[in-house]
Amino acid sequence: MKVLVVAPNWIGDVLMAQPLLRFLKQDPSVELSVLASQWVAPVLEVMPQVDVVIGSELRHGALQWGERRRIARLVRSAGFQRAFVLPNSFKSALIPWLARVPERIGYASEARGGLLTCALPKPGRHVSMSEAYLRLAGAAEALPSPPELSVPPARSAEAREQFGLSAASEVVALCPGAEFGPAKQWPAHHFAQLADLIHASDPGQELVILGSTADRLIAGQIAAASKAPVRVLAGHTSLAEAIALISGARAVVSNDSGLMHIAAALGRPQVALFGSTDPRHTPPRSARAQVLWLHLECSPCFKRVCPLGHLNCLNGIEPASVKAALEIAAAS
Ligand code: SF4
Repeated sequence: MKVLVVAPNWIGDVLMAQPLLRFLKQDPSVELSVLASQWVAPVLEVMPQVDVVIGSELRHGALQWGERRRIARLVRSAGFQRAFVLPNSFKSALIPWLARVPERIGYASEARGGLLTCALPKPGRHVSMSEAYLRLAGAAEALPSPPELSVPPARSAEAREQFGLSAASEVVALCPGAEFGPAKQWPAHHFAQLADLIHASDPGQELVILGSTADRLIAGQIAAASKAPVRVLAGHTSLAEAIALISGARAVVSNDSGLMHIAAALGRPQVALFGSTDPRHTPPRSARAQVLWLHLECSPCFKRVCPLGHLNCLNGIEPASVKAALEIAAAS
């Protein structure tokens, strides 16, 4: 059976969809394709359950009618029998409907019931995202297992060489970005102090900053404030290259972000720093993760910008504590 999954648009959500993909592939007759934006497609390309990734140029929140019709023609010609629509937007259900996929399954939202052949009632907030995705396939009883990504060692070595990192050195990746907003970002001066502490304890380790083009500013601030040699790769790698570099890293320090979930899925030792969000809801799902969260009276507030103006939830996490947590993670 040819099955299409319309993927979510955020890296963390894509990883939380992996238990559903794993469940679907338990049926050996299933050929599994996933339709994904270019931003998240590289994550799906390193998921062993996915047979085909159909990359699209669709942007978050944009209708792009012409692009949707083009992809719908492609999907129709591929002859899919069933489609699971994971995002809850009206737009995300358009392509399977335009492509006339016979079974179109998703949650009822945004008045899109007419686009789906099976529109299930949305589960409450107490249901985890992985479980909600599994319920679409009638697999609520399947236990959501942690996400796992797999990068061949040769690909990791190739990425190191491409960015001038020594094959023998240990790399510590700093990921200071958080697309959601500054209330999830540990400050640049703290990252810089952490870089100094790491370098002082072992000058042989290579410090790299990973992230998107939006993270170039904070990456530059960290490099400028640090006395240690820090290589800024934020905005210079594709997501696929960043994944390959993380797969070979000794350890990763990040905010609550997509790269945090990627490090967890790759099983790398990591420290995850939480500010305005809640690690009980979206933790890095890895036994090798150390989570630092101050859990102040005001947290979690789930705001993009600190409504109190002081960001104590992140300012109060000391670089020395992060360094100590990093050593615990690296020894795990
Ligand atoms: S209100 Fe509290 S939890 Fe929210 S961003 Fe500010 S310090 Fe952090």
